[in-house]
Amino acid sequence: MTEKTVALLVAAGQGNRAGGEIPKQFRLIGGKPVLAHAVDALLAHPAIDSVTVVVGAGQESAARAALAGRPIAAIVEGADSRRGSVRAGLEQIAGSGGAARILIHDAARPALPASVIDRLLAALEHAVGAIPVLPVADTLVRHQDNRAGEVANRDALARVQTPQAFDFNTVLAAHRAWDIAREATDDAQMVRHQGSDVMLVAGDERLEKLTYPQDFARAERSLAAARSTRVGMGYDVHRLADKEELWLGGIQIPHDRGLSGHSDADVALHAIVDALLGALAEGDIGSHFPPSDPQWRGVASSRFLEYAAERVAKRDGTIEHVDLTIICEAPKIGPHRDAMRARIAEILALPLDRVSVKATTTERLGFAGRREGIAAQAVATLSLPTLF
Ligand code: MG
Repeated sequence: MTEKTVALLVAAGQGNRAGGEIPKQFRLIGGKPVLAHAVDALLAHPAIDSVTVVVGAGQESAARAALAGRPIAAIVEGADSRRGSVRAGLEQIAGSGGAARILIHDAARPALPASVIDRLLAALEHAVGAIPVLPVADTLVRHQDNRAGEVANRDALARVQTPQAFDFNTVLAAHRAWDIAREATDDAQMVRHQGSDVMLVAGDERLEKLTYPQDFARAERSLAAARSTRVGMGYDVHRLADKEELWLGGIQIPHDRGLSGHSDADVALHAIVDALLGALAEGDIGSHFPPSDPQWRGVASSRFLEYAAERVAKRDGTIEHVDLTIICEAPKIGPHRDAMRARIAEILALPLDRVSVKATTTERLGFAGRREGIAAQAVATLSLPTLF
């Protein structure tokens, strides 16, 4: 018996109530396709083992492009109805080993907080189904011929969201038993129809569905608000020695001595790497590239900096600014400043105005003043998505 918890993302809509030329699951929010937001949220949750995506007829290649680089279990062609699309996804999962639990989610709800998944999986410990709901704030009225009728008791009503979580075999059986002449708007009603209880957990306003054109503008705004600024600092020192090349700020500088130590000992790039890793709270250069590991001996430090930039990109982050200060008596940094800025900007793929290089002496005081070594400090500012 498998113990896997899987997710099924339904992205099969062809509709354009939301406006625009392309189906809403492929439109961009914050520069990322709508369905990729939901997939990333599902993949990022530690309890979810795999994600299967159902798309509409003819949408498979668009989906592959939209989800490039993500470890998707399968992309399945759906049906004309949501029910048929979910069924196709369930059968695909059943045919490849099945699962213990499943979360069925709609791509049109891109902002999926991890806390909702936590609540659903906790409820599944005691039930075969669980759904997120929100209370109804507005008065609900029955109506006919444009006239108001009875007011419904809103205390007895709730707004249903997705993902919906189920015991896998229960929801599969409910789909297989469903009279396909009838439509079902969600999976919970099919499970209930089989006589099983479906528990309610608290939903989340951020899970609102993208339906109308104005929903996209709202989603853009909330996505922009859901980013935070992170600042990291880095500091490094290397010893000056005879018979060494001097690599500093990513360029080679003619000098009577050079820096010795880890890799090419580019103290300036090492400080920037630590600043970036610090802003990510992902350790330091030594934990990613141990000095004891011979494979890093003599390596160009630009590789470490490229790696740190990749770590930022992996977290969907952007580097807003890097500010470097080099501390030494000699060589003079001024004549090399522009070349260093250009090289650092090139390695980080940043515009030049986001890279600052400064230098100072220590008035001949201390190790830097005695020309025994060079120190560098860096501050990096990142913009990172806020995790719910
Ligand atoms: Mg170092």
